Amino acid sequence: MKVSDKTVKSLLEIYKEISLLNKILATLGWDTNVNLPPKASQGRASQVSYLTKIITEKWTDGKFIKLLEKANSQKSKLNLEEKAIIRNIKRGAKIYNKIPKEILVEESETTSKAFVTWKVAKENNDFAYFLPDLKKIIKLYQIIADHLGYKDNRYDALLDIYEPGLTTAFCRNLFSKLQPPLTQTLKAIQKSKVYKSSNNIINDSSYPIDDQRKMAAFVLKGIGYDFDAGRLDIAPHPFETQLGRFDIRITNRYKGNDFRESFTGSMHEGGHALYEQGIKEDYANTPLGGGVSLGIHESQSRFWENQVGRSFEFLKFLTPIFHALYPNSLPKIETEKLFAILNDVKPSLIRVEADEVTYNLHIALRFEIEEGLINGKIKPEDLPQIWKTKMKKYLGIIPETDKEGVLQDVHWSGGSFGYFPTYTLGNLYAAQFTHAMKKELNIKNLMTKGELGTILSWLRSNIHQYGSLYYPAELVKKVTGEKLNSKYFLNYIKEKYHAIYKIS
Ligand code: MG
Repeated sequence: MKVSDKTVKSLLEIYKEISLLNKILATLGWDTNVNLPPKASQGRASQVSYLTKIITEKWTDGKFIKLLEKANSQKSKLNLEEKAIIRNIKRGAKIYNKIPKEILVEESETTSKAFVTWKVAKENNDFAYFLPDLKKIIKLYQIIADHLGYKDNRYDALLDIYEPGLTTAFCRNLFSKLQPPLTQTLKAIQKSKVYKSSNNIINDSSYPIDDQRKMAAFVLKGIGYDFDAGRLDIAPHPFETQLGRFDIRITNRYKGNDFRESFTGSMHEGGHALYEQGIKEDYANTPLGGGVSLGIHESQSRFWENQVGRSFEFLKFLTPIFHALYPNSLPKIETEKLFAILNDVKPSLIRVEADEVTYNLHIALRFEIEEGLINGKIKPEDLPQIWKTKMKKYLGIIPETDKEGVLQDVHWSGGSFGYFPTYTLGNLYAAQFTHAMKKELNIKNLMTKGELGTILSWLRSNIHQYGSLYYPAELVKKVTGEKLNSKYFLNYIKEKYHAIYKIS
């Protein structure tokens, strides 16, 4: 990295402190999810809020803001990396400096309380118990969006937090192009003979946790995850986190009666981790040293999970490994069977369990609801009914309980409005990147041989190394030669699932 501008250098010195504090915060977060004894949660909450306070003070410090303004006013003289540094700091500072402090405090108090009420409400299938907190959070995020500012739609201000430049209009157009063909494919699958005769139930056996952990470690090593710069642990919800440039950790979970989730989960979180492990080393602790957006991040996890992990070719390579690592439960499983059970399509109520065909329909529903809530077009008390109506429309099934419906996801309790669409973007970017990769690499051949290093090198040189240098739209253009286009994902789905379900 070449930084010669004096003001940018001073900014980077202060930013480094913010980055180090964020890594300490992430370390506490990892520990909370993996190790925390039950009685320690109050103590941990005070540690986290103290650190958060210091980080906020750094972001709002007068000297820092003055330096930022000065650097910004001389932007035209700066090089590409310096410009990106300024752009990213401006973006981070916006959240802290445009939203009044008391709103941020209220948000943090409301959401930490709401996390608990949401959990209880979900356990007891009691939406009314969560409703007062949810209403408060929606109101707060309407205020936050107004402070952040937007051009066309209030929801744009929130979308932009997770994916720079993302707008409601863009999402609406995207989902209008995705939804009809996906629904059509789903209907064709459901009408197919293969669907009607398939028996993809696998929980008639048990899959020892130890076998599953060995498998997870094997595939992680296979895709190139560096265990000397990371760890694999157990947590209730799988995640990836960055505690330092050489400390990129992942977690997984293991179900005794199903080996699939820990397999795809390790590929998914491993994909996130490979992105972070591949960023230029001298970007560490600078505003360039992290994945650029949630959408691009998710493209890397979905690429390894779906384009590789659920491909016939890679499963063919892994078949003898499955035999060896599950000597009692999967001694003779065939590639065809592995492929079928890992690509089983079925409309389901729960997003996180959805297959590749139906997954984005779950997101379309959440996008429409969030946009309605943030703009005051949907009343929070009507959510359970609206949820059911939209489920019927998109997936043809209706949840009997709110637990399997509107209460299933944690996001709204934490105020993460605008987050969901990035999951769909990730799927779309992944397909478009794969299309570009295929022009240069014979990836089917590489996957069959388990030679994934060549694939990783392609991702490293085209995507990973840049960290947050390019915004998502620029990066996609640079890598694939065009803007994000849903046709690559739709073609991928059509080609793969028409073959699996023998649809002509
Ligand atoms: Mg993910």
